[in-house]
Amino acid sequence: MSAKRIIVIGGSAAGPKAASRARRMDENAEITIFQKASDLSMASCGYPYYIGGFFDDRDQLLCSPAGVVRDSKFFWNAKKITTKVKTEVTAIDRQNKRIDFTDLISGEKGTAEYDKLIIATGSTPRKPPIPGIELDGITSLQSLPDTDYLRKVSDEGIIKKAVVIGGGVIGIETCEALHLAGIEITMIELLPQLLTFLDKKMAKLVEKYVMSKANVILENGVASFIGENGKLTAVKLQNGTEIPCELAVIAIGVIPNTRLAVEAGLPIGKAGGLVVNEYMQTIDPDIYAVGDCIEIPNLITGNPKLNGYFKGISSEQLREKLKTQEILVLLDVRNPDEYEQMRLGIGEILIPLGQLRKCLEEMPQDKNTEIITWCKI
Ligand SMILES: Cc1cc2nc3c(=O)[nH]c(=O)nc-3n(C[C@H](O)[C@H](O)[C@H](O)COP(=O)(O)OP(=O)(O)OC[C@H]3O[C@@H](n4cnc5c(N)ncnc54)[C@H](O)[C@@H]3O)c2cc1C
Repeated sequence: MSAKRIIVIGGSAAGPKAASRARRMDENAEITIFQKASDLSMASCGYPYYIGGFFDDRDQLLCSPAGVVRDSKFFWNAKKITTKVKTEVTAIDRQNKRIDFTDLISGEKGTAEYDKLIIATGSTPRKPPIPGIELDGITSLQSLPDTDYLRKVSDEGIIKKAVVIGGGVIGIETCEALHLAGIEITMIELLPQLLTFLDKKMAKLVEKYVMSKANVILENGVASFIGENGKLTAVKLQNGTEIPCELAVIAIGVIPNTRLAVEAGLPIGKAGGLVVNEYMQTIDPDIYAVGDCIEIPNLITGNPKLNGYFKGISSEQLREKLKTQEILVLLDVRNPDEYEQMRLGIGEILIPLGQLRKCLEEMPQDKNTEIITWCKI
């Protein structure tokens, strides 16, 4: 029997993981990763720490725990996985089980056949069509080139003022990194709190901490970017305030990269990600999808989600819901000792966090029922 041909599209986090797992499952398979970017297996989570100067060796963003850079040579020598970097997959032909690709350096085009295909194309930062968004000095923090740019900004020390747009995790991490470089930061968040997946009180603690490093403006959005000679000079807010700055980092979330899959007729779910089953399989049994390009049901609510998004509510909002909402599941996930010490007595059920996975059948199967969960009182 001939070796199974497995093609992986995307070579950063999920793609190489899937390829390595496939190798462990089948030592004879021909496995190839196609990667549009120049690098492989980049540790995106470390980007803000490199920008902030916590370490200076850029290779640490690309290294295995043993300190070996995960380049094409590493993937072949250690795992017998072929990698094609700077190569973009441009189409998936499901009928003939084939992909089209373009070598981004030579421009050469090619095709490759698969028995199994894994889509791990990740996501792209949201960049709304705000006037002036094309000015120099406006960036996101998602790729290694973005990281190199922001590290250069930090090292040069020329830029004095920056605006970070978006008070989520990446916005806050960027804020910390640039603050360490001595840059004065203003953080803008459209909603009334930072880290919207936290409840209000927790978010207030974070806000207080961030305010010790940056100016924080809540409940305000960006109306336009202002520039001179093509370079950013200020951010204008919806309330008319102008904030002078030479750098703006947009961190308002990501959009799953699904174009290839959509063009191949694979369905997208309500949250905008590729739909997969519990085996990460799309509706095509020979095509799997993993990572930021997919959506999965929230394990508790069953609703589709991208990136583990949960919405926090305040105690006032909870009180209001208890008064007005008949169907509401109240789930206390503390440990039994904590529960005994202080019960709320509002009809809550106790399922300690560690047991939650085993008790999913006890949760309402109706996906529209709201579940309010807490772990601390
Ligand atoms: C600054 C930052 C900090 C983060 N911190 C954390 C953290 O602390 N904890 C955490 O859990 N997550 C964190 N994340 C999120 C985490 O990095 C992502 O969830 C993860 O990288 C997603 O992996 P992925 O492989 O799906 O997508 P990506 O890592 O985006 O990789 C997709 C790859 O596919 C390639 N590609 C796309 N289209 C094609 C194509 N047509 N042909 C060939 N290649 C293609 C791209 O070049 C890209 O390299 C962070 C992200 C950032 C940006």
